[in-house]
Amino acid sequence: MAPWRSLASRAARLLAPLAGGRAPSARYYQTENPDLTRLETSSAKTLMDIGTRRIFSSDHDIFRQSVRKFFREAVAPHHAEWEKAGQVSREIWEEAGRRGLLGVNIAEEHGGVGGDLFSAAVVWEEQMYVNCSGPGFSLHSDIVMPYIVNYGSKEQIKRFVPDMTAGKCIGAIAMTEPSAGSDLQGVRTYAKKDGDDWILNGSKVFITNGWLSDVVIVVAVTNREARSPAHGISLFLVENGMKGFTKGRKLEKIGLKAQDTAELFFEDVRLPTGALLGQENKGFYYLMAELPQERLLIGDMAIASCEFMFEETRNYVKQRKAFGKTIAHLQTVQHKLAELKTQICIGRTFLDSCILLHSEKRLDSATASMAKYWASDLQNNVATQCVQLHGGWGYMWEYPIAKSFVDARVQPIYGGTNEIMKELIARDIVSDK
Ligand SMILES: Cc1cc2nc3c(=O)[nH]c(=O)nc-3n(C[C@H](O)[C@H](O)[C@H](O)COP(=O)(O)OP(=O)(O)OC[C@H]3O[C@@H](n4cnc5c(N)ncnc54)[C@H](O)[C@@H]3O)c2cc1C
Repeated sequence: MAPWRSLASRAARLLAPLAGGRAPSARYYQTENPDLTRLETSSAKTLMDIGTRRIFSSDHDIFRQSVRKFFREAVAPHHAEWEKAGQVSREIWEEAGRRGLLGVNIAEEHGGVGGDLFSAAVVWEEQMYVNCSGPGFSLHSDIVMPYIVNYGSKEQIKRFVPDMTAGKCIGAIAMTEPSAGSDLQGVRTYAKKDGDDWILNGSKVFITNGWLSDVVIVVAVTNREARSPAHGISLFLVENGMKGFTKGRKLEKIGLKAQDTAELFFEDVRLPTGALLGQENKGFYYLMAELPQERLLIGDMAIASCEFMFEETRNYVKQRKAFGKTIAHLQTVQHKLAELKTQICIGRTFLDSCILLHSEKRLDSATASMAKYWASDLQNNVATQCVQLHGGWGYMWEYPIAKSFVDARVQPIYGGTNEIMKELIARDIVSDK
């Protein structure tokens, strides 16, 4: 290890507890010299142990402890009430902001926390480990914020990013329309030039954080004459309160009960030039460039959910009795757990490799699609098996596994359906280039 790196790492370790477990910055990132003594999850006592996995360092462990504490103490106790309300509170966003858990992987110079990608992954995973899907933090921090930082003007970054990091401005991204989901080129929402302004008309559906959103990245057609629809799409930053922008009802879902998912309507919304994100008609390319990170985080959260479900089920079968013994004594149950653990650990290895690749900007679209499709399918299989091992109690809402089961179902659908993932993977396989 280079001496400066070792010193920096030691300094980070000493300072982190004082800073309340701040996300380690890219400077302290240790994968060039991974600590080979760290256990992988297959050998750890539980799949959610802190201090495991070679992609992380002891600095990340300190950060993970504080993130775990936040989700257990500030999120979990309120989740049932948020499930009834169909949304989380604004206070939890601001609390997450105060603790440095939003915009973790956004550079400090842009108003983010300045942590590395591994720290962002810690936040994704810890949310799954507490089984509380309500707060749409990952979409806000690691899907919406990167668009603003990567394509926004200095003014746009200054206007939105610091407040988003503080949890005072909640972000959403609106691509899907009632008649255009998988086929994004079928988007009809239209922005027409009017002098220096744009006039936006159309509607969006299924928008995560849509109800609470303060700023929404809206995908709209800006050139109907383009040689293909992909060449005529732009992105706009639309703010809550703009005349003609209205939010429809919070949609009633079968899972993700505490997450607000909404319809959005745009009727002659006048947008200034400064609302255009990046260049005119380049929106489709920006979407293609940013989607791999979205798919990576869905995949990582899927495996983290599997790890949670496995531990929940292990605990259950060790105390549930049938025929005079715990059901953990039954060989069929033991074999089922052995199968699940093996599959989850294989998935974890692949996801960790993808996280590492992405931290080096080497994660290609097909590999990210593999992670999303395989991990979210696994999550659904694990959910089904774990509910089965809980018997009738697994079907009861009061049991965490029931919530994991319904929450899992959407993972193969959003972020690009798993059928679309296979299209993207297959394209590379049969390409002659
Ligand atoms: C809870 C939730 C949150 C969401 N959050 C957001 C959000 O924040 N922002 C946003 O923009 N969108 C969001 N979405 C929308 C989501 O991304 C879309 O639902 C998804 O892309 C699928 O589009 P669709 O629903 O129109 O299905 P369709 O595109 O109509 O697909 C229907 C079926 O046809 C299959 N299919 C379609 N085309 C092909 C093909 N070429 N080959 C093979 N099969 C195909 C699909 O795989 C699917 O099985 C969310 C959805 C949900 C349910």
